[in-house]
Amino acid sequence: MPGQIYFSLLNPAIAATFAVMFLLLWRRWPWQRHLALLALAFALGALGFVLVDLTPLENETANRLVSNGVFVVGVLAFCCAALQRIEVALPWRAFAAILVVGFGLYGWFLFVDPSLNARILVVGLILAGITGAAVQKLLAKRPLSTADRLLLIAALLSIVLALLRPALALTGVLQTADGPSYQQSSYWLTIQAFTPILLGTIALLFLAAMGLDIFERLGKEANHDYLTGLLNRRGFEAAINPVLDRAGDGAAALLVADIDNFKRINDTYGHKTGDQVIAAVAHVLARHSDGGPAARIGGEEFALLLAGGDIARLQEQAEAIRTAMRELAIAGLPPGQSLTLSIGLHQRGAGETLSDMLVEADRALYRAKAAGKDQAVLSPPHVRPARSA
Ligand code: GH3
Ligand code: MG
Ligand code: MG
Repeated sequence: MPGQIYFSLLNPAIAATFAVMFLLLWRRWPWQRHLALLALAFALGALGFVLVDLTPLENETANRLVSNGVFVVGVLAFCCAALQRIEVALPWRAFAAILVVGFGLYGWFLFVDPSLNARILVVGLILAGITGAAVQKLLAKRPLSTADRLLLIAALLSIVLALLRPALALTGVLQTADGPSYQQSSYWLTIQAFTPILLGTIALLFLAAMGLDIFERLGKEANHDYLTGLLNRRGFEAAINPVLDRAGDGAAALLVADIDNFKRINDTYGHKTGDQVIAAVAHVLARHSDGGPAARIGGEEFALLLAGGDIARLQEQAEAIRTAMRELAIAGLPPGQSLTLSIGLHQRGAGETLSDMLVEADRALYRAKAAGKDQAVLSPPHVRPARSA
């Protein structure tokens, strides 16, 4: 039948093409190990179809066992790829139990009590079981990204298909046939006809997930400072504006800190040590941020948004930061080398935006510098920025 030959060639060709494509992608991004698993999964899919459709039938029993084994390991590789992508531990015990019990039953219905329908059902249950175990692991991950959700939908669809095929075979909707005519049965022809769509959908979903992952990473990098891992100015604004929208006037305060005499540290100990100092100070500030947004807003300038407007509490927090600075030990700096911060604090006034608050906190910081550095200064409560009309 020419149509059947077409599908017999088409399925391995499509699966092999995707295998090569994911192999090339993996060579480009070797740390994305799930790409190698995807290449393996598609290669096994291609091999499975070659075994069923294009190999001589002399040893049919062995061929069935091997081809089903190859398909099952292929699906296992797809599931491992989906979990490896998000670095979730593989459910090896569940996989092993499903394979042992499943292939025990398959062997029983192949050698002891031969029944094609029973074997179709067993393979369906093995595939649904493996995918189900992977879905359970995927669901446990929080939060789920859009890419995770896409792959979850694909996995749930695969479970439905894995169970639908035996259901259609057992209810007689699809005819099965044992022996050499198996390849002409409506059951196998349906599998052959739908597989290209399935393979294409799976490949597309993994590619879409990869694209979404890249966008997400770029977005994160654009909002973070490379040296310290803190938010940068742009990320700080993006994180703070919704917080300010929610918090009432006075319920938020800004702390701006600047390392004292930092230029001297750079000049005396070198730029690399200077970088280490910036990273260490960033770490101190992050530890004292109470989970609020912390940012590096300039070369050696940092900002924290502090929740609540209790002035005594703000000053305590600034003192805690200054104490932590005195205890800071940095490789490359002699133990006696003083490392201090000047800090400007500003409690949010009525209707103030982030830039209004930054102006006020900066003024307070300037006063801390002018008064001899190594101190925290609070902006006067009556001073409010001039507001543009
Ligand atoms: P003050 O006490 O008044 O703040 O004086 P300062 O020396 O700390 O401030 P100044 O503005 O004179 O110098 C800041 C220096 O920070 C100048 C610049 O070369 C250095 N700097 C800015 N960004 C980086 C960086 O990423 N790494 C290093 N190592 N140095 C930086
Ligand atoms: Mg400075
Ligand atoms: Mg500065």
